Amino acid sequence: MWRVADCIFCKIVAGEIPADVVAETETALAFRDLNPQAPLHVLVVPRAHVADVGELADVEPATVAELVRVARGVATDAGHDSYRLVFNTGEEAGQSVFHAHLHVLAGRPQAWPPG
Ligand code: AMP
Repeated sequence: MWRVADCIFCKIVAGEIPADVVAETETALAFRDLNPQAPLHVLVVPRAHVADVGELADVEPATVAELVRVARGVATDAGHDSYRLVFNTGEEAGQSVFHAHLHVLAGRPQAWPPG
C-alpha cells in the first residue's frame, strides 16, 4: 500500500487517528466528514495514497468504481435513494486534502449549480 507520512487520510486508513468509519472494503474506506455539510456527509477514500481522482483513474481504475459503489451503499443503507457525489479536484475546485476522496452528501435538498 502506498502512503504519505503527513497525510491525514493515510493516518485514518492506518488507524492512527480516529474516524467514524461507516463502511470498508479491501481497497476503500468510508468515514463521516468532521465538518458535515448535509445530514449524511461521508468521505470514501482509496486505501492507497493518490492525490486526486484523476490520478486514481490512471493508477487504479477499478478503485474509482469501487469508491462509487461504496458511496451508493452508504447512501442507500442510510435510506437515501437521492444523493450527491463530489470529487473536488485541485485547489480552485475546493480540494483541501490531497488524498483522493469522494464526498457523499444526502438528506437535504441540494442546489444546482454548486457554489
Ligand atoms: P476537500 O475540501 O474536498 O478536500 O474535502 C476535505 C474534507 O475532509 C472536508 O470536508 C473536511 O471537513 C474533511 N476532513 C478533514 N479532516 C478530517 C478528519 N480528520 N476526519 C474526517 N473528515 C475530515
